[in-house]
Amino acid sequence: MTNIALIGCTGSIGRQTLDVVERYPDLFRITALVCGSDAEDLAALKKRFSPRVAHCANEENFSHEELFEDCDVAFIAVGGFAGLRYTMSAIEAGKRVLLANKESLVCGGEIVIQAAKKRGVEIVPVDSEHSAIFQALGFDRHARFEKLILTASGGPFLHFGIEKLARVTPEMALSHPTWKMGKKVTVDSATLLNKGYEVIEAKWLFGADFDQIEAVVHPESIVHSIVTFADGASVAQLGFPDMKLPIQLALTYPERLPCMPALDFSKLAALHFLPLPREKFPCFDLALKAGRAGGTAPTLLNGAAECAVSAFLQGHITFPRIAETIEEVLCDLPQGKAASLSALEEADGMARRAARALIYGK
Ligand code: MG
Repeated sequence: MTNIALIGCTGSIGRQTLDVVERYPDLFRITALVCGSDAEDLAALKKRFSPRVAHCANEENFSHEELFEDCDVAFIAVGGFAGLRYTMSAIEAGKRVLLANKESLVCGGEIVIQAAKKRGVEIVPVDSEHSAIFQALGFDRHARFEKLILTASGGPFLHFGIEKLARVTPEMALSHPTWKMGKKVTVDSATLLNKGYEVIEAKWLFGADFDQIEAVVHPESIVHSIVTFADGASVAQLGFPDMKLPIQLALTYPERLPCMPALDFSKLAALHFLPLPREKFPCFDLALKAGRAGGTAPTLLNGAAECAVSAFLQGHITFPRIAETIEEVLCDLPQGKAASLSALEEADGMARRAARALIYGK
């Protein structure tokens, strides 16, 4: 029996995690639930799963220690920078972390990996691309490789010209061609910021250099990522684009249990791969630049991005303004060392204030 503390239980990943728990009640038990702010949803989930503790994140009067004291694994499914604090607390409690929160590694990679090493804590990827790489490496995160190749669907605007991109609406950005996901990550997929984030995630998870990581557009979202080895062999993981598999596998690996129908290769007409259109989607290079700079740069980028995407979804700024806001914040603010969680939290606050000032004029 695996006892799970699930942080971010009402979002897209959280709900699918609970479906896995319900499908295998002899294997999994929920000990703690944390949601964002929806007390009604949380009450319903409390009834269904009888966790020992359940909180809304906005209560802010509960201790993280209490959340993680009796679990075997911490499943961090909350979106955004807020996830980093939970990831750090779970590592400090010595619990294996199943990580669906990208920002923990994008913003906090340095301190997260350091703390995990110190405590001997394993970090298991849930993001589909990183799960694919983990699978292609035979679940051996120390295996030698030449290159990691992340696939990207390209999002809904892959073939849009620059003028058309200036007129896209939140509704258009929220209709992803292949994946069903939360709002923020769906918009990040449309700007390709998400793929930039995933390059940084891969760097930390697999100890890769930025030069060893590539991204390629694969519109069908069937090949979830590829590892290339020294002898020229490439190993990929294929499957339907559905988060159920990487979620369940993070919980059961190295064992595999029934989850999804397998692909019928006789019916797969064609798989396409093409270069990432970086010039049309500047967020990808902005993320890489911040990732290479390190320190607080990715946190500044992310703070600006969270504000800009939320402003875009509310109709306050245009789609191209998301990238411009991020770039201006990165340009304006001083970058420091990622010395501690509090240093990162300070940088995050600074970036949000700067982005809000740019968007709303103070
Ligand atoms: Mg992904």
